[in-house]
Amino acid sequence: MTRCRILPIVPKLQTKLKVKEVIRNMKIILLGAPGAGKGTVAKLLTEYDGSVQISTGDILRAAVKEGTELGREAKGYMDRGDLVPDALIMRMMETRLQQPDCANGFILDGFPRTIPQAEALKKLLEKLNIRLNFVVNLEVPRDVILDRLTTRRTCSNPDCQEIYNIKSNPPLPDGRCKKCGSPTIQRDDETEEAILNRLETYNEKTAPLIGFYEREGLLKTFSSVSSAETVEAVKKALKEC
Ligand SMILES: [Zn+2]
Repeated sequence: MTRCRILPIVPKLQTKLKVKEVIRNMKIILLGAPGAGKGTVAKLLTEYDGSVQISTGDILRAAVKEGTELGREAKGYMDRGDLVPDALIMRMMETRLQQPDCANGFILDGFPRTIPQAEALKKLLEKLNIRLNFVVNLEVPRDVILDRLTTRRTCSNPDCQEIYNIKSNPPLPDGRCKKCGSPTIQRDDETEEAILNRLETYNEKTAPLIGFYEREGLLKTFSSVSSAETVEAVKKALKEC
């Protein structure tokens, strides 16, 4: 009889250990200008601990595709060419953050973009009892970003769209795509002028966010130009927090 009482203790201990592991999983926001390597960093981080990458674009597309009530509402705005209001985005975010895969951790990519969104997100996270580890601010020098983006070439075949870099991964010597032979082109939004514009817009919109998270005591800036190095630094910071 005594034995029976002792046995159930083992599964209980295992459950406790699992809970501890889950808490260690990262819950972060990723801020960075176009060309700062946000996509690469996010991908490397999700591979590290199985956390999921969440962007408002993905949430919107998924909700519209699944035809959920929120998705249908959002589609109405999109069909009229209007911006989806923050309140609706927050309701979608609330649903998304409660899906089971988020228990492994998440990386918010490109959200929030504005102070009202950051304030709404703060309230939502408090409501869901989720504590962020920190906000990763990728700070890559402007000339590095310019060099990265102006050297990109994209296959003009809409079914291929293979991406090249004239320095590190060039197309064929005559500028054609290695995969399908179509000409490669420089996209309109990847000319020097367009990139400088995009960077300026980003800085105008994001500078207040950086201040916001600094005041919240959550901001951590990473300025390595290598995505792999940034990821190592983020992992180290996660272990310390
Ligand atoms: Zn191609």
